[in-house]
Amino acid sequence: MTDALARARAAVCAVTDPEIPVLTIADLGVLRDIRIDGTSVEVTITPTYTGCPAMTVIALDIETVLARVGFPQVRVVTTLTPAWTTDWLTEDGRRKLAAYGIAPPEPAAGRRALFGEPRPACPRCGSLSTEQISEFGSTACKSLHRCLACREPFDAFKCH
Ligand SMILES: [Zn+2]
Repeated sequence: MTDALARARAAVCAVTDPEIPVLTIADLGVLRDIRIDGTSVEVTITPTYTGCPAMTVIALDIETVLARVGFPQVRVVTTLTPAWTTDWLTEDGRRKLAAYGIAPPEPAAGRRALFGEPRPACPRCGSLSTEQISEFGSTACKSLHRCLACREPFDAFKCH
């Protein structure tokens, strides 16, 4: 890896999700690729779901941090294939989400096979007996749930 690429990568990897500021786009698995051609940088991102409004903010943040480390020419490319899955969320990302009070999604395949529709575990007490109250939580990227054990409502990261 060249110095320039390392510098660009470090800057872009530190960009956080505007809705979940404890998570970087690297944690989320939203950051797919960084390429440098001369002085211009091309960054490829995959939104967590189609039409996620946070992506516009993220693209602007990427341009800002890259300009700050010496890359004024930036192209942010959004790719929808392959589609983002919750499996792209890193282990670090899962831990940070839970610590932030948002139920991290279970890895898609295993959980669904066992329980049918995946139900998020309560981020406060860990209980699996939870119910969905609303498809939309505090933002469109999250859904609202309630824990039947501790009675607390909580946001869960949406699985698509
Ligand atoms: Zn609970």
